[in-house]
Parts: sequence; C-alpha cells; structure tokens
Amino acid sequence: MLTYVRKNITEVEYRTWFVPVRPLGVQDGALVLGVRNSFAMEWFRKHYQDLLEDALRHLGAQHPAVTFEVLPAVQEAMISPLDPPAPPPSTRSSIIVPSESSRRSLNPKYIFENFVVGPNNNLAHAAALAVADSPGKTYNPLFLYGDVGLGKTHLMHAVGHYVVEKHPEKRVEYVTTESFTNDLINAIRDDKMTQFRNRYRSVDLLLVDDIQFLAGKERTQEEFFHTFNALYENHKQIILSSDRPPKDIQTLEGRLRSRFEWGLITDIQSPEFETRVAILKMNAEHKRINVPQDVLELIARQVTSNIRELEGALVRVVAYSSLNNVPISKAMAAKALTDVFTSQDVQIEMSDVLRAVAEHYGVPIEALKGAGRIREVVVPRQIAMYLIRSMTSHSLPEIGMFFGRDHSTVLHATQKVGEQVGKDSELTQQIEMLKRRVQGLEELF
Ligand code: ADP
Ligand code: MG
Repeated sequence: MLTYVRKNITEVEYRTWFVPVRPLGVQDGALVLGVRNSFAMEWFRKHYQDLLEDALRHLGAQHPAVTFEVLPAVQEAMISPLDPPAPPPSTRSSIIVPSESSRRSLNPKYIFENFVVGPNNNLAHAAALAVADSPGKTYNPLFLYGDVGLGKTHLMHAVGHYVVEKHPEKRVEYVTTESFTNDLINAIRDDKMTQFRNRYRSVDLLLVDDIQFLAGKERTQEEFFHTFNALYENHKQIILSSDRPPKDIQTLEGRLRSRFEWGLITDIQSPEFETRVAILKMNAEHKRINVPQDVLELIARQVTSNIRELEGALVRVVAYSSLNNVPISKAMAAKALTDVFTSQDVQIEMSDVLRAVAEHYGVPIEALKGAGRIREVVVPRQIAMYLIRSMTSHSLPEIGMFFGRDHSTVLHATQKVGEQVGKDSELTQQIEMLKRRVQGLEELF
C-alpha cells in the first residue's frame, strides 16, 4: 500500500507525512491509521484520503475506507535536533519540560583525533589538550574565541570526551549559554533554584558555549557569576567559548569580564589553505569517499573562512556527483560549486524562498507564516528562515517581521539548522536542492 502511495507523491512529502504514520487496525470496515496530531489528521483527510483509498482499491478492496486517529503523545516524545524551543514562560501551557531536556550530550565526532591542527588553531588546541590532561590545574578558565564555524565547539567537546574517558568518575557538563539561560528561567519559574545550583555547581568540568549571549542578560550573568565562583574556588575546570574576546562583549558585568580574563584567552583564526585541504581530506576519508587531490584543492581555494561551509561544499560536490551519476572531477566540482559563489548577484526575495520551501515539503505558505507549532510545519519554517538568512541580505528583525515573529526566533532557527548542515547529509542535500529551486537552477540536478 505504501509503495503505491510512494509512487504517487514526492519523496519529501512521503517522508514528511507518511513515515510517522502507524497502522492501528481495521474498524467498521475501515483501515485506521495513527497520525501524530490533529493538524496531521486534517491534512491527511484533505490531501491524502483519496490517494490512500485508491491504494486500497489497487490492492483489491471493493469498498476502500480509511480513517485517522491521533497517536498517543508518547510517540511524539522523541526530540529531534530540529525541534522548536520551548515557548517562553508566559505562553506556556501546563506541559512541563524537565530541565534535563536541555542537557546536550557531546557530539561523538568532536574528538581530538578529528581535529586538524594548523597554525590558525595550534595554541587553542594545545591549551585544550593541557586542560583536558589535568582539569582545573593549568589554565582556568580557558577562554576560546573566534568567528563562527572555526572549531570552538569541536574543541570544547573534545576536552569533554577526553576527560570522560580518562576519568570516568568526573562529571562533565556541556551547555550552551542559551540553554543555561533557559534552565535558569525554568528553575525560577518552577521554584527549583536549589536543583539548578546543585546541577551546575557539582561538576568537575563545565563547558559553556557562546558566552557572548550573556550580554544584556543581567539575571543570568548574576547566576553565572556565582556558578563560576563556586567552581573556581573548588579548582573545577571551566571552559568558555565566544565569538569575541571578553573585552569586546558589550554589557558584560565587569566582575565577570575580569574573571574570564583570569585564565588563558586564546583565539582561533581562519585556517590557511593547507589546513583547509587537510580538513577536507579527513572528511572525505571519514565518509569513505575517494575525492581526488585537485578537487580538494579546488574546494579549499573557493571556501576560505568557515569550516562548516567548507564541509558543506564537499557534501555538495559529492551529492552532485551521485545525483547526476558522474565521477568526481575538477570540472564537475567547479560546476557543482558555481552557484554558491554567484548567488549574491541574483536578487532573491523572501517570498521566493518561502514558495520553494512550501512546494518542496507540501506545506501551505500560510502554515509556514502561521503560528502552528507542529513538527511538519516547524521544521520547514526553520529551514525557510535559514535559507532566507543565507540567501538574502535581510536582517534578523526583517525576517522576523515577515514571519510575524521576533528576531530571536529567527536567530534560534538559523542556528538550529546551521548546526545540522554538513552533519546531517540528508538535510544538507535538501537545502542544496532548495537553493537551486529558489535560484531556478534545479534543472542542473
Ligand atoms: P564554532 O563552534 O567555532 O562555530 P564548530 O566547532 O561548530 O565551530 O566547527 C564547525 C565545523 O567545522 C564542525 O563540523 C567541526 O567538526 C569542523 N571543524 C572545525 N575546526 C576543525 C578542525 N580544525 N579540524 C577538523 N574539523 C574542524
Ligand atoms: Mg559553536
């Protein structure tokens, strides 16, 4: 039955809507299908009822009938990295998300072995190794800073992995400044400050990512100050990352700034050509794909600043090769990469992007701009925000206005998707295809 359905709709529609469906049995002569929520139920009734009944007819049913039921919420509980953030406290209903849910585990790929050392990052790397070897005894805190996509998160996780492995009894906590803030808000709201403090003050290694987001958050700064002191006094290791050095973080309290400067501050710069080639080479090896040296060099010459984009360009070349069934060569790679570097010339409108995303995922434009929070709509919406951010020159507030949301929602969405790009190859391919669709280049595929 699903084979029939699959033949009649696009792959993306199939994955968006049909993969989560569960057959629940037959009732009053009708096949009962479990769907994830009431939005999906209506969507199925409106768009897929006929198709599903055709499919049954195709299998020989004389009076085909399909009904839908909403699956119990447990099945929805799987949290994917693209799930939306919890709504702010004021709009929250009775659902209580335990603060544990913000605890993110370490990315298994972000280990020292996978970190290519070059002149751009060797100091940061050496400091991270030293700290990993004897936490709390060398540089405390270790403050890593550098532009986005240069390996700060990777290095922090690497220290975390190392410590967990060498000293299994030690407690390691990795947290983004955003989740630290959310945890604090939740703890205040739920009257759980004691738990909050215990959690953050009982670790041996605390990794706090993107600390620049403390700017302007007075209550969070205050709490973080006490967390910092408690750990520091007990000789527990703290590693912080930021896109800029402490002195450039505006509206950061002086007492925090000076504490951040107590240990070692080290930066990561953009990688040189040789380092970029080495990173690409390692990536290709991990993916077990044979990419000729001249192709690696071509990519490394074109993408110069952000390592995530560098990896994205490799994914793009590999995707182009497998979708077109042509071997990876320099000429082919140049073609696959062309529109990355010409896209700025084309004036792209926000509505172009929205239309492309709506068509691609089979979700109406109104739903993308609407308030719905179900996954089938939220994920495409976040992808649309990400694409608009990367393909147009609109600012976060402008994009927010377009979607009827504030800029922090857009920021969150673009970061979420951005974090996945390059890691999740399916998502990366979808994004590449969407870019082409927006630019009217899809026939290239
Ligand atoms: P940041 O936190 O600075 O924005 P990330 O740590 O998220 O950057 O790195 C972006 C991507 O680039 C990740 O996939 C990471 O594994 C990769 N990366 C960064 N630096 C290196 C490096 N020196 N060697 C290998 N991969 C790297
Ligand atoms: Mg990071």
